[in-house]
Amino acid sequence: MKIASGNNAEYESFIPEANRADKCVQCGECLPKCPQHLQINKWMPIIASYFES
Ligand code: SF4
Repeated sequence: MKIASGNNAEYESFIPEANRADKCVQCGECLPKCPQHLQINKWMPIIASYFES
């Protein structure tokens, strides 16, 4: 899914490269830990797409 672009400069200034959404490997380890039951592994590629240049 490609959505509107985000503010790359702000994203890159706050999130170290090693921790950005495009580094998600879809392992699913976060899923049982999220108290809001968010589908984090499904959202990470969408977030990465939002901020890709
Ligand atoms: S699925 Fe969750 S725990 Fe695994 S890499 Fe992605 S964000 Fe991190």
